[in-house]
Amino acid sequence: MKMSLKVERIENYLEELYPDAYCELHYTKDYELLLAVMLSAQTTDKRVNQVTHVLFQKYDTLEKLKGASVSDLEKIIKEIGTYHKKALFLKEIATILVDEFDGKMPYDRKELESLPGVGRKTVNVVLGELGVEPAIAVDTHVERVSKRLMLAKDDDSVLEVEKKLQKSFKKECWVKRHHQLIFFGRYHCKAIKPDCENCKLKDFCRETKKKKKVLARK
Ligand code: SF4
Repeated sequence: MKMSLKVERIENYLEELYPDAYCELHYTKDYELLLAVMLSAQTTDKRVNQVTHVLFQKYDTLEKLKGASVSDLEKIIKEIGTYHKKALFLKEIATILVDEFDGKMPYDRKELESLPGVGRKTVNVVLGELGVEPAIAVDTHVERVSKRLMLAKDDDSVLEVEKKLQKSFKKECWVKRHHQLIFFGRYHCKAIKPDCENCKLKDFCRETKKKKKVLARK
């Protein structure tokens, strides 16, 4: 099947399943989104929302967050992974934004990536979600699903996956496709026990091909 037809079928199926896919992290201020995405590494959005519900109420300005004790931040976010490091990042980011950016979050990719604990994936989520620039953030779900659907190779790096997805989808759809691929990986094509029986994308799925090969050998 031609790549463009395959991509069209994937897009149609994502639209059918998740026409309104969205960012599941809770935030009311732009910098809160940045902090929430940073906190979401190696944990679920649900857990992040539970801790940020308390964190963003208690420390409702960057100045207050800058003045917080790391031990109190650790206490608030201890339910999520690597919380020692993340508590330090929270305080450091708030300090830098207050001292060097006049208390505002920058919208420049390089400036954002210079912040502690903030990498390319986090910046892609933030800039895409806030409508600053189209972006596809490749998290664990997006990477797994893209490789299973042969939109990328098994040994591609995260950056290579991102570049291939950018080529596959129209730029104006990048943010939506990013959310849809996350929903697809989170609720349908799960890491363990994906719902292959009810999946309309079996025909060009690497996982299905692997299973068929194993069955043929038996
Ligand atoms: Fe995922 Fe299974 Fe569908 Fe392949 S067939 S995309 S592994 S749910």
